[in-house]
Amino acid sequence: MDRRESGAVQSGASILDGESLCSHIRLLHVMAVSDPRILVAYAGGTIGMKETAEGHVPVSGYLQKQMQELPPFQADDVPTYDIHEFDPLLDSSNMAPEDWLRIAEVIQEHYSTYDGFLVVHGTDTMAFTASALSFMLHPLDKPVVLTGAQLPLAETRTDAQGNLLTSLLLLGQYPDRLAGVHLCFDDRLYRGNRTTKVNADSFSAFASPNYPAVGTAGINLDVDWSLVPASESPARSPNITPLGEATVSTFRLFPGMEARHLDNLLSPPVQGVVLECFGSGNAPEEEAFLDTLRRATDRGVVLVAVTQPLRGTADLNLYATGQALAEAGVVSGYDMTTEAALAKLYYLFDHGYTAEAVRDQMQTNLRGELTPPDDVPPALGRARRRLARFR
Ligand code: ASP
Repeated sequence: MDRRESGAVQSGASILDGESLCSHIRLLHVMAVSDPRILVAYAGGTIGMKETAEGHVPVSGYLQKQMQELPPFQADDVPTYDIHEFDPLLDSSNMAPEDWLRIAEVIQEHYSTYDGFLVVHGTDTMAFTASALSFMLHPLDKPVVLTGAQLPLAETRTDAQGNLLTSLLLLGQYPDRLAGVHLCFDDRLYRGNRTTKVNADSFSAFASPNYPAVGTAGINLDVDWSLVPASESPARSPNITPLGEATVSTFRLFPGMEARHLDNLLSPPVQGVVLECFGSGNAPEEEAFLDTLRRATDRGVVLVAVTQPLRGTADLNLYATGQALAEAGVVSGYDMTTEAALAKLYYLFDHGYTAEAVRDQMQTNLRGELTPPDDVPPALGRARRRLARFR
């Protein structure tokens, strides 16, 4: 049924839940024509932006207007959806942990009413939000998919239409099997906390360097169910751990850095730092640098090593330079992305774990965000054992 011809689309926005935490969110309702029902949480991003004299800016209602006018969005197989628009709509570069909380609260508040959730979001920090939501919302037995676009939906040549439609169709097709937080972009469905933005120009903006895409949109929408985490125990609605109270940070090592570069970063009140190390978790063996790390560890700061290369794992047991880091108290973050490691540090501290427990949990797989060393494919494991001989 064509929703426009049937007159089913209600244009115009109405306020929902005025007294609630979502009072800033407006609801645009597209009348239900069939189940399942999807809630679109529209947070902002290029996808709904309009060209103005000041450049591209998010404009309220603009995305919804395009979706109401474009015929593919009226097709029978597109599931019924309602749109919550955040106020203000944000360029995702302006997003902070309190915005992750607003998204999580919308999902929690409407959990029992909808079968799946589509978070429409800017691409710049989408991988951070996907990682954060995967920790904040627990347990989760329904799908949450994040998408956005490199060009606005209003442009003639755009990736927005495909990204939105593929996401909606996946949610409509597999509402009961696709539990967890995912990111859908350029015909790929990824585990959300495995993603990183890898290209500022291409429509293939995201990658999941250390975990295969869980789904591919070709002629069919194919999902490899062995890669989708088992649905967490059904809940009336997930609990939320708000993030952002903890003081955490990231630091990218570079040749020529000195201990003083880290002094400020590691001073109180910092609780945890993701160290983007060289190769498999390596760093200079310079004593002043290691001493700075050691003193921070002694103060209870949690230091986690991830790898600068796009692919691979930071395992501090492979090289002498990594061992020196381990002796200074740094723990292996294995193949976590920086985005996932940062979100996980926030989560563990904000959840109230002690520094010792955070160190332990950072090396443990909680939401599919890392591959523990025991789970690496056999060929890679052999290569690591060979390397270990050079320690
Ligand atoms: N700056 C935009 C944002 O992240 C870029 C995008 O959406 O692609 O909101």
